[in-house]
Amino acid sequence: MMATYETVIGLEIHVELNTRSKIFCSCATAFGEAPNVNTCPVCLGLPGVMPVLNQEVVNLAVKAGNALGCEINLINKMDRKNYFYPDLPKAYQISQFDLPVCTGGFVDVLAEGKKTRVNLTRIHIEEDAGKLIHLEDEAYTLVDYNRGGVPLIEIVTEPDIRSAAEAVAFLKKLRAILVYSGISDCRMEQGSMRADVNISLREVGFQGLNTKVEIKNMNSMKEVFKAVKKEESRQLQLYTYGEGHKVVQETRRWDQAKGRTLSMRSKEDAHDYRYFPEPDLPPVKIDGEWVESIRATLPELPDEKKQRMMTTYGLKEAEVDILIEEKEIAEFFEATVVESGEARESANWIITEVLRVMKHEARIPLSPRQLADLVLEVRKGTISRTAAKEVFEVLLTREDETAAIIEEMGLKQISSADALEGIIQGVLEENPQAVADYRAGRTQSFGFLMGRCMKASKGKGNPGIVKQVLEDKLGS
Ligand SMILES: [Zn+2]
Repeated sequence: MMATYETVIGLEIHVELNTRSKIFCSCATAFGEAPNVNTCPVCLGLPGVMPVLNQEVVNLAVKAGNALGCEINLINKMDRKNYFYPDLPKAYQISQFDLPVCTGGFVDVLAEGKKTRVNLTRIHIEEDAGKLIHLEDEAYTLVDYNRGGVPLIEIVTEPDIRSAAEAVAFLKKLRAILVYSGISDCRMEQGSMRADVNISLREVGFQGLNTKVEIKNMNSMKEVFKAVKKEESRQLQLYTYGEGHKVVQETRRWDQAKGRTLSMRSKEDAHDYRYFPEPDLPPVKIDGEWVESIRATLPELPDEKKQRMMTTYGLKEAEVDILIEEKEIAEFFEATVVESGEARESANWIITEVLRVMKHEARIPLSPRQLADLVLEVRKGTISRTAAKEVFEVLLTREDETAAIIEEMGLKQISSADALEGIIQGVLEENPQAVADYRAGRTQSFGFLMGRCMKASKGKGNPGIVKQVLEDKLGS
C-alpha cells in the first residue's frame, strides 16, 4: 500500500527593525541610498573599533516578544558567529546564540478554513550583512555595505506548519502584527522581511522528523507558496522511488524564473560557526517593569481588531481578514466609516475597487472623505451605482470633492417625481400599444416601458422613482 505523507515546515524569518540608526553605530538605516554612503569604521568592521548596542533595538525586540506572546529573557547576551564571506567584512556576525532575547510565543493562523497555532522557538537580535551584487557577464561582484549593521530580529518557528497555504497565512499574520506594532515595515520586496523555509515530508502518524531541506531568502509570499509546492512534490518523488533516491539535507535556492529549487550547498560543507560570547559587549540586562511599560505601548493587534470589527460593523470574518491585512487599509476603512456611517458599503467599495487599484499602485488612491461621499451619494439616490463607478475612476486622479465631480460629469440622477413626470408621460403617449397590453394583463410590457423611460431620461432617472411614477400612472 502506498504511504501517505504530510509536509512539515518550520520558518526562520529575518525582519529589519524600524530604527533610524544601525545596531552598533550611528549610521542611518535608510533604504535606497547610493551604495556605501551609510557606512563608518564600525559597520565596515575595521580593526580596533568598538560596537555600542542601540537601545532602541532591544526596545523593539522586546516589543516583538510582547506582541507575539514570548517569554522575555531578562538576561540575554550577544555572541559572535564566525564565517568568512565578503558580505561581512569583520568575518563574523554579532548575533545571539544560547541566550536569545525571547523564547516561546505563538501565532494563530487560519488557512483553508483550518485554524492552527504555530509555536515560536525564539527571537534573537543580530546585525544584517552587506549586499552582494553579482553582475551578469562580469568577472567581479560588487558589494554595498549600507545594509551591513542594520538591526534584525530573527524569528524561528517550531515545525508546526503543514502546507504552503499555512506558511503564507503565518507570514501574513506575522507581518501584520509587526507592522501594526511599528516594529518593522516588513517590505518583502525591499528585503526588510525575508524567510528561510525548512521543509521535510513524513509518513502520516510518524512523530519524528525526516531529513529537511532549507530554501533560503524568500522575499515574496507568492514565491514562498510556489517554492513549498514544488519542494513538496520533489521530495514526494524521492520518497516514492525509494532507496538510492533519498532526500539529502541541504540548502536550496528558489529559482523564480525557472520555478524550481536548486541545490546551493549540502550538509558536508555546512558551516561550523564557532560561536563564542561577544567580548566587546556586556550581557543585555532588561528590567521586568520596563518590559511591562513596553507592553503598554502595544497598539490594538490584528486578532483584537478583527474581533472588534466583526462585532462593531457586522462584517464577515473573511471580509475583515482582507481589510486588516494591511494596517493602512484598516485605518482607511475605519476613517471612511466615521465619515459615511456606512460600514457594509464602505467595505464593499474598498474590497472590490480600492484594492483592485492598489494591485498596481502602492498608495491608497483617494481620501476617506471622497469615498464616504460617494457611498452617501449612492445611498441618497443622487447617482446610480453604475455612475458611481465612473465617478470613482475620476476620484483616483483628483482631489476635488465627490459632489463637485458628480456635478461636473452631469451624472446626477433625477430623483424628483415632478421632474420625471413629464418624461414618463411622454413615453406613455408614444407607446399606446404597450400601455394597452399592460392594462390588459400582459405585465411583461412594464419592463419595456421602464426601459423607454430610462432611455428618455438619458439614464439619469432614479430607477426607483421612475418605477414608482410609472406604476402610479399605469394604475390610474
Ligand atoms: Zn556605521
